[in-house]
Amino acid sequence: MQDYQKISEALKKSEGEKAKVRGWIYRTRSSGKLAFVTVRDESGIIQVIVEKGKLPDEDFNSARKALIESSVEIEGTIHEDERAPGGREIHAASFHVIHFAEDFPITKDQSMEFLLDNRHLWLRSRKLTTILKIRSTLTGAIHEFFRSHGFYEFHPPILQPSQCEGGATLFEVNYYEDKTYLSQSWQLYAEAAIFALERVYDVAPTFRAERSKTSRHLSEFWMAEMEAAWFDLNDVTEFAKKEVKFIIKKILEEHEEDLRFLGRDPEALKKMLDKQWPTIKYREALEILKKDGMEVPFGKDLRTIEEQRLMKHFDTPVVVTHYPKEAMAFYKPSDPEHPDEALCFDMLAPEGYGEIVGGSQRSTDINELVESLKKQGEDVSKYEWYLDLRRYGSVPHSGYGLGVERTLAWICKLDNIKDAIPFPRTMSRKSP
Ligand code: ATP
Ligand code: MG
Repeated sequence: MQDYQKISEALKKSEGEKAKVRGWIYRTRSSGKLAFVTVRDESGIIQVIVEKGKLPDEDFNSARKALIESSVEIEGTIHEDERAPGGREIHAASFHVIHFAEDFPITKDQSMEFLLDNRHLWLRSRKLTTILKIRSTLTGAIHEFFRSHGFYEFHPPILQPSQCEGGATLFEVNYYEDKTYLSQSWQLYAEAAIFALERVYDVAPTFRAERSKTSRHLSEFWMAEMEAAWFDLNDVTEFAKKEVKFIIKKILEEHEEDLRFLGRDPEALKKMLDKQWPTIKYREALEILKKDGMEVPFGKDLRTIEEQRLMKHFDTPVVVTHYPKEAMAFYKPSDPEHPDEALCFDMLAPEGYGEIVGGSQRSTDINELVESLKKQGEDVSKYEWYLDLRRYGSVPHSGYGLGVERTLAWICKLDNIKDAIPFPRTMSRKSP
């Protein structure tokens, strides 16, 4: 590894100290005897002054010739200069080009589509590098949160024989002479696991053939799911709030500067941490919408515009519970006191970002489950194994799924969910 420093470390050194960095050329220009080369690594950028006569001629010529994205190793001395990014620059004593890059295809002001076609190169941009770092902190926080609350990481199959969230969005896969589907949710398998481990979670890829082209839907996304024995709807909604607050706290601890760079004011997030996040019923949400001039009949899931209008009334995330039973997935139970309502919830993010978490108590009533499956036209025999979970020591239990990209997009205030995942998959894009 040798004794190279990260650029962020080099930027902490004082006048006259030696520095040794490596990375990729971020910007470059030269005039006569001087080349100004800005170099980036994972941690930041630093300007390097390459002056003819102060280093071997061969090195000077390389520095003049190397195009952006060439990989380089540089040794020199730190010089404090207010005009340089980060307030320091390196005066090079050696400048080695490891690889001379070809003309880099990405230049300024390119279209979203062009950048998506060149995603493998655009990942190097400061914007995506920053988002990917925060994403790593976000998933790290999820693992930390669940493990510190006595949860086990549990791995469900990704190839699954049946639907969980409605057949319309299933991706079918050839399976030898037969067919199977990519996971839409780990839920049914997590429900089997709670009878062994009681509290389980995972963070895993999830696949849904979404037909709508929205800035909130991906075909492949990562879902952080939990399932817990003995949790009821109230336990699980409070737990979800606690998780999201924990995630925000962790991101604020490590990424205030990064958030600002992305255009997200960290103070706005801090304020949300100090507040109570409300829980309201779907029926109350309809009331709020009605007063606001938007009449939604009981019985429909809230659409994006309705979620957005509702959230204009709040400045923190809000949990909405008791959606109409008829619009919900088969495993969500009726509220015994209001059979037309389900014991389920969504957490909606403010600022127009909409649903980030969806969850529910799970039905333990085998007849209700069979009825709901039949109503949805499902072949009940495929679910016999799942129904077994209600035959042998059934317990009340609940769970939810948090969309990693939705949450990240909201926290970072991104325009589009596609920037919250390294290689987005949508209806119109499956490469690179
Ligand atoms: P929506 O109504 O917005 O499509 P959903 O009700 O289908 O969401 P759930 O089945 O409850 O979502 O999934 C749990 C979480 O997974 C959601 O709250 C969301 O954060 C995330 N999620 C669901 N579908 C997608 C998708 N296509 N792309 C990205 N994230 C998604
Ligand atoms: Mg959906």
